[in-house]
Amino acid sequence: MIYWYSIVVQTPAHSPLAGLLTYQSEQLLQVGSFVRVPLGSRELLGVVWHQLDSPPEPMLSKQGKEIEVKAITACLGIQAVSSAWLKLVSFTAHYYQRSLGEVALAALPPQLRTLDALQVERRLKRQTERTKPAATAIQNTELSENAIDNIALQAEQTLATAQISTESGPFLLFGATGSGKTEVYLRAALEALQRDPAAQVLMMVPEINLTPQLEDRVRERICPLYGDAAVVSLHSGMTNPQRLKSWLAAHMGTARVVLGTRMAIFASMPNLKLIVVDEEHDPSYKSQEGARYSARDLAVYRGKLEHAKVILGSATPSFESWHHSSAASDGGAGRYMRLTMAERIGGGVLPKVITVNMEHQPKKTVISPPLLNAIAERIARGEQAMLFLNRRGFAPVLHCGDCGWKSECPHCSAYRVFHKIDRTLRCHHCGFTQRVPRACPACGNLDITTIGRGTEQLEEQLADLLSHVKRPDGAPVRISRIDADTTKLKGALQQQLAEVHSGEVDVLVGTQMIAKGHDFRNITLVAAINPDGALFSSDFRAPERLFSLLMQAAGRAGREASQGAASEMWVQTHHPQHPLYLALKKHDYSGFAAQQLKEREMAAMSPFGYSALVRAEARTQEAAQAFLTAASESAADLADAVPGFEHITLYPAVPMTIQRIANVERAQMLVESHSRKALQQFLSQWQGVLQATKQKGMIRWAVDVDPLAI
Ligand code: ADP
Ligand code: ZN
Ligand code: ZN
Repeated sequence: MIYWYSIVVQTPAHSPLAGLLTYQSEQLLQVGSFVRVPLGSRELLGVVWHQLDSPPEPMLSKQGKEIEVKAITACLGIQAVSSAWLKLVSFTAHYYQRSLGEVALAALPPQLRTLDALQVERRLKRQTERTKPAATAIQNTELSENAIDNIALQAEQTLATAQISTESGPFLLFGATGSGKTEVYLRAALEALQRDPAAQVLMMVPEINLTPQLEDRVRERICPLYGDAAVVSLHSGMTNPQRLKSWLAAHMGTARVVLGTRMAIFASMPNLKLIVVDEEHDPSYKSQEGARYSARDLAVYRGKLEHAKVILGSATPSFESWHHSSAASDGGAGRYMRLTMAERIGGGVLPKVITVNMEHQPKKTVISPPLLNAIAERIARGEQAMLFLNRRGFAPVLHCGDCGWKSECPHCSAYRVFHKIDRTLRCHHCGFTQRVPRACPACGNLDITTIGRGTEQLEEQLADLLSHVKRPDGAPVRISRIDADTTKLKGALQQQLAEVHSGEVDVLVGTQMIAKGHDFRNITLVAAINPDGALFSSDFRAPERLFSLLMQAAGRAGREASQGAASEMWVQTHHPQHPLYLALKKHDYSGFAAQQLKEREMAAMSPFGYSALVRAEARTQEAAQAFLTAASESAADLADAVPGFEHITLYPAVPMTIQRIANVERAQMLVESHSRKALQQFLSQWQGVLQATKQKGMIRWAVDVDPLAI
């Protein structure tokens, strides 16, 4: 007996083939099985997508010969993926306009592609042996109740936990920083695991390296009950063998909790009962390469598909999620259930927000005197301060006052940043690095100067300004800087964070990476040195991002109740009356969200309108734009084929904000519609047009559906 199957294999991003190829086998295979198939001279990993009812129509080669249907080489001994997983993958490919083959294979651990049947068998055997002890692990009810109830919940936590237990969701857990959201996630996870002996929980975080504490907390609570093998991680910092191991554990059901970054949304979990998306507003949930998927949005989709509960959590939810969780009577969509936790654990209050009007300070002031005094006072009392500035390096530009030369990158439309520590000019876009010239390369002037400042300079100036200040033990002030430059080496960030936690550091200086997520205990002052830039960005999400960043940063201060009342968040600004800062002063997230959502509604922007960006990269800017323009003109031909075509707006092609990176010119085109359906239908049809559009000098193009930055 011969059976025919459609097998999905890896295909290029925009291949007109969906990635489905026909093969035959004498074996009856389950849909979702993993196979090895021949393609040309290679042998590839494939997934059985469906079984054909009848032999395929004979296909003819270019020479007119009949192409024989090849046989599947081997079926791997791994159990099949669920039909829900197949659906999740095809939805992703369809919605984000990529080929099925690309998305399906990218969703699997890379190492799986390279193993033959025998190697897979060995791997599985090893894995089963390793996890055996876990199967017989502690299922002691006494112990488990203990672990669940070892902390008495606060009233708001109790309420949130109860609602998650009884309602179906999706939930938006709107909890202030330090309100104990993690505890609510853990309760929900433990409940799911106890309710069903096979249940699995997916917990997603934006960046695992920034939140090592969370992993410890999850292990601490889950492992004593379900064994050490019950919790696995899944993120891009892992080696391929580690990823395969975690993936298999999730797939075989031995991993009960999968803790991962956005890629974990594709983990195969046959008995998924709960998905948690912590810090759901974080942009890193949106992929910026391959399929530009949003793991947060897919979590909601997947939850519905698999009848798993979904909890999105944040102190500053994305305005989309806020809208979805607002009642229809408030103009919202009423799709999510909002659970509010406004109180900080231990009664700590949010820090007082103080704005310093930089218009009243001498020009070039870096740290205003009142802020400096406040920092000095904290240090003298043995407390810690945190200052952030969204620019690394010493100064963003080096400049010659005589001839006007600036440190432009020869390969990008950007300036190279001056790094004083190793005396280099470095491009932060393409990495091009040179030693700092002694004199102006254009006119020979020896007196070249810097413009603006970065974290290196802030650290240096701060050391200078605080040189007279002493810690309570009489020792001089210790300043530490955390940014992408100081944390390049593996383990460097952990080490630096440990120094902050242990109190070795008095002042922490850094980029926004320090403002996120960390549970610092002794920081009582947080300062944003120069956050104004985002107020006037052309990107409509810039205010949302800035507000969220400042709220999150404020949340780093005063986490111990004893200090709460005295903790402060300082903002140095030229626009102290800006509505964003006024809302921040009141910690008024909902007021700010309402105001911004009203503006977006009037402009028909997300979540009231839908958009996609097509980005093109080419050797010249003309070529990139010509490609987009041609594709846009051909779009008119689709008018009859696409229902709702009249609701689609195509904007002209424009250069991207950073127009050139590493000698590649970049342009983009915005496509908008108030109807998501019309946009989807248009994009699906337009794919073919984009594929067929030829332009000399084009390098690549990609569609970004629901883009985060415009
Ligand atoms: P969030 O994630 O909302 O910022 P966390 O979950 O990190 O807050 O909680 C802040 C701190 O409060 C943590 O150290 C946590 O262990 C502690 N905590 C949470 N819930 C309780 C509780 N009910 N009683 C005592 N401490 C709690
Ligand atoms: Zn010069
Ligand atoms: Zn460059």
